[in-house]
Amino acid sequence: MGLDAELVDLAPYRYPLNLQTAHGLWTHREGLRLSLRLDDGREGYGEIAPIPWFGTETLEVAIAICGQLPRRLTWDTIHCVPNTCPATQFGLEAAWLAALGLPDLPLTLRYSQLLPAGAAALTAMPNASLNGSPNPATFKWKIGVYPWSDEQVWLAELLHQLPDSARLRLDANASLSRDTLLTLLDWLDQSGQAHTIEFIEQPLADPAQMLAIAQAAPVAIAIDESISTLASLERWRDWPGPLVIKPAITGFPSHLRQRLQTCHQPIILSSALETRRGQRLVLALTHDLSERALGFAPQGWFRETA
Ligand code: MG
Repeated sequence: MGLDAELVDLAPYRYPLNLQTAHGLWTHREGLRLSLRLDDGREGYGEIAPIPWFGTETLEVAIAICGQLPRRLTWDTIHCVPNTCPATQFGLEAAWLAALGLPDLPLTLRYSQLLPAGAAALTAMPNASLNGSPNPATFKWKIGVYPWSDEQVWLAELLHQLPDSARLRLDANASLSRDTLLTLLDWLDQSGQAHTIEFIEQPLADPAQMLAIAQAAPVAIAIDESISTLASLERWRDWPGPLVIKPAITGFPSHLRQRLQTCHQPIILSSALETRRGQRLVLALTHDLSERALGFAPQGWFRETA
């Protein structure tokens, strides 16, 4: 790219979070903010927001990698960050691209609204659907957090509450058993509700087992955790359903864009729970890759106090 750059800021952040998933309660979001300054004085913001259980580096490794960078950075230098550190790859290249200038975000981005897990979704739904919902509205509910016998009752009620034309995404975070998935699919089919489910996101941990079911399921099965790296995205390139992509942890954004431009499946862009500034950066770099509702929170996921 002809310019050198310097890392002028690298600062850790840690904010309280309250997100219940099948992996348990996520209580803090930790990451790194960074700034690169190009030789010509332009600066760009980047963010490293690892999620180790998605197969990224840990925060400690990201700090160590940044600490080993030479003082003068080139486009080639930052592309030497290994593929085992995809969040760091994203943060550095995104900062460089931001320094070069990002496109403005359209005013009309459409978001999917995340409902709280469990029965709390039932009290959240009426407010959520009044909350300036786009049309058609899209909601997302985490499943596999409580026993299926409870979640089935809540799901039935939730589908009853769902506004007309709205659709629901169910995200199991790879936590369902094969039997529970088959029971869920059968229940959706029998109850005539399959059409209100946009997709079930990564129901099983084993993608091969999930594939066998996805090919004949009455509801689309999206793949998420199993394609968290560019190499795994390549491996499952013929996945018969939507691809859930978290750009902040999928490596260099330029490589991700190249890869996604050849995908024929619907792309669902999803947050890695970055800061609000990190989220704007991710969306500026990738929003045009998807026409589906974005899995991001326009108001942010947590209070960013100093
Ligand atoms: Mg997911």
